[in-house]
Amino acid sequence: MKKLLLFLLILPLAVGCAERCRGGRDGVWREENGKLKVLSTIEMIDDLVQKIGQDYVDSTALIRGGLDPHSYELVKGDDEKFVRADIIFYNGLGLEHGLSLSRNLIGNGKAVPVSEWLLHDHEDRLMIGEGQYDPHIWMDISLWMETIDPIVAELSQKDPDHAEQFRENGRALREEMERADNEIVERLHRIPAQRRYLVTSHDAFNYFTRRYLAEPGEGERWQDRCCAPEGLAPDAQLSIVDMRKIVDHIGTHNISVVFTESNVNKDSLKKIVSTGRAKGFAVRLSPEELYGDAMGKSGSYLEMIAHNVDVIARSFGGEL
Ligand code: FE
Repeated sequence: MKKLLLFLLILPLAVGCAERCRGGRDGVWREENGKLKVLSTIEMIDDLVQKIGQDYVDSTALIRGGLDPHSYELVKGDDEKFVRADIIFYNGLGLEHGLSLSRNLIGNGKAVPVSEWLLHDHEDRLMIGEGQYDPHIWMDISLWMETIDPIVAELSQKDPDHAEQFRENGRALREEMERADNEIVERLHRIPAQRRYLVTSHDAFNYFTRRYLAEPGEGERWQDRCCAPEGLAPDAQLSIVDMRKIVDHIGTHNISVVFTESNVNKDSLKKIVSTGRAKGFAVRLSPEELYGDAMGKSGSYLEMIAHNVDVIARSFGGEL
C-alpha cells in the first residue's frame, strides 16, 4: 500500500519532468518563473539572445533545423508562443515573408526587427538585390554584431534590474565576434584570389563573399565571386537562362566545386554540375553542405559560420 501511495505521489512529478525534458527549451520557456520570455524567429538571433540574456532570460526560436525562414508559415502551437512572449526578435529586411508569420510580426508592439536597426548607422553596408534589401546579414559577422545593441536595449528596457549584466554580456559577445571575424578574414585571404569563387544554392552568401572572399581594392568586382541559381529567397523559380548563366560563370572562373545548402533543394545545382561536366568543366558538388539560412546541426551561430569557413577553405585548398 505504501509503495502504491509513493508511486501515485511520484507519478505526476515524473510525467511533468518527462514532458519538460521532451519539450526541451520550449518546455522551460512555458514555465512561469518570472524570467523574460523571448521568442526569436531564427536560431541565429536566438543564439545572441541566449548569450546576452544568459540566466535572466528564457529564449527560444520559432524556426528551427532545416526550415526555410523566407517562406515559413505558422504551425499549430506558434500562436501561443506569440502570446506568451514578452519580446519577439525577428530579422526583418523582408526575410520572414511567409504571410501568416509576417502578419504576426508587422505592427506587433512586441516585435523588434534587429537587422533593420542597421538602417540607422550602417545603411551603406546593406546590399540591395532584386529591388529589395538582402536580408542575409548574419553571413558577415562584422555586420551581425551590430544587432547586439538592439537586443541589449530591448532586454534592458523590459528588465532594467539586469541591464548592467546585459550590457556586459553584449560587450563580451562583441569582442568574441570581432575576434572570429578577423580570424576568418585572415584565414580565407591566405587562399589565392583566383580560387575564391563561390557558387551556392541561393543568394545567401553575398555578405559573406564581400567580407571574406573579396580581394582588397577590387571594388564592385567582388560580386563576380558569388553566384547562385536561386535568388534571395530559395522559393524563386529557376529559369533556363539563369542556369546557363551559372554554367558559363563556372567555365569563366574555372570553378571546381559548388556548394549545396542544408535547407535548399539540391536539384538545381545537380543539374548545373551535370550540364557543366557535359561541357567538359571539371566541376563537382561539395560533399559537405553549407549552412545558409539555418544553423543546421551547429550548436551556435559562430559554429555555423566556422562550419561554412571550414568547408569552403577545404574545398578551395586552403589551410585548416
Ligand atoms: Fe535565404
